[in-house]
Amino acid sequence: MKIISDNPNNLLEKLELAKKQLKNAKNREEQLALTTYIHQLKVAIYDSFPGTIPKPKYYNNKKNRVYNKKFTNHEEKMVENFAHYKDFHEEFFEPIRKVTVHELRKYDDGNYSGITDLSEKEFYEIFFDFMAKLGLDKYFDKFIRGRRLYSIEKELGEEDEFSKTSEGYIAHNPINKDNDIFMRKLRYDIWSMHYLAHEFGHVYDLNHFDEDITSFNIYNYESFNKEVIPMTFERLFLDHLIENNILVEEAKDQFFDMNYIYYEFILSAYIISLIPHKYFDKELHLSFSSNKLFEMVGNHFSRNDLVKKFINKLDALDTQDTYSYAYGDVFSLFFKERIKEDNYSLDSLKEFFELRSKPFDPKILEKLDINRKEYVKLYKKDMQLLKKESN
Ligand SMILES: [Zn+2]
Repeated sequence: MKIISDNPNNLLEKLELAKKQLKNAKNREEQLALTTYIHQLKVAIYDSFPGTIPKPKYYNNKKNRVYNKKFTNHEEKMVENFAHYKDFHEEFFEPIRKVTVHELRKYDDGNYSGITDLSEKEFYEIFFDFMAKLGLDKYFDKFIRGRRLYSIEKELGEEDEFSKTSEGYIAHNPINKDNDIFMRKLRYDIWSMHYLAHEFGHVYDLNHFDEDITSFNIYNYESFNKEVIPMTFERLFLDHLIENNILVEEAKDQFFDMNYIYYEFILSAYIISLIPHKYFDKELHLSFSSNKLFEMVGNHFSRNDLVKKFINKLDALDTQDTYSYAYGDVFSLFFKERIKEDNYSLDSLKEFFELRSKPFDPKILEKLDINRKEYVKLYKKDMQLLKKESN
């Protein structure tokens, strides 16, 4: 069986359908969701099959006069919500970032093993076994047979404004819940499998989203919950490899890197929480100069933290993105544990599914029994997966 689709026709049909759906959209919320999808899909087609369609125009929700107001509305509410809970975020991430950096330093030996080239069959079987463990084998098989997985062979670069930094993304039709996964340079190795687990988490998450389109937009543009399930899948996948001795040394490398990347989101979340209130009136993308940013937050760090170095390499801080990954890291660690305790049943996600489309609220954490103390314990325990056999 071929895993990667090599034909743009399905995508072009989906694009035509979405354009029709947009014409018949019932309200502005639908227009907003569909326009976003159409743009994602165009970028995806342009990225995966160069020459098929013209380069999509630079796109910005804020500049589209039809629903500009709607989008701005969601965005403003997100910023308002952030400012309201700014102190909570600061208190939450301060101890967490200290513990995570400490743990990472403890396990950082700078050694990486190589990456094994797998055959297409091996790749499929390893991933399929993981899906089967979660009871998603048929679901996954259907996805692959539907030829919905694509590889983008272009280098990561300026050209793709939508997917500038990501290793993969999905395009999801919010009306009929159809979706496709696009991965950058999909190869049959652990690296691609790891990111496939993440993207498949998005597919699972959005296919199980049963609320109306307004809630869908709140989920996407206001909440900090959209990375929780994908990150839970990532964690479950790497655990599965390490515990079953599959590509185990490489899996540990991926596990370390994953935690390092998430640590950077936690650090960024903490940094954003330290920026004075007055800057959060309207702006979502906070682009201060490195010096200005360091001036505002530097006194909260010690020399040892190398925070200046970190700030220097930051482009701009995107509040929603940063907090989606930072809280995604926290939530996913709890959910991974619960799913494993529950014999790999995904049932324990139901509670989260009922709350996920809400903007941030500490009460959600309370209801889900998520707190920073327990996180610290879980994190330390989780990092022990990195112990080498000889230790
Ligand atoms: Zn994601």
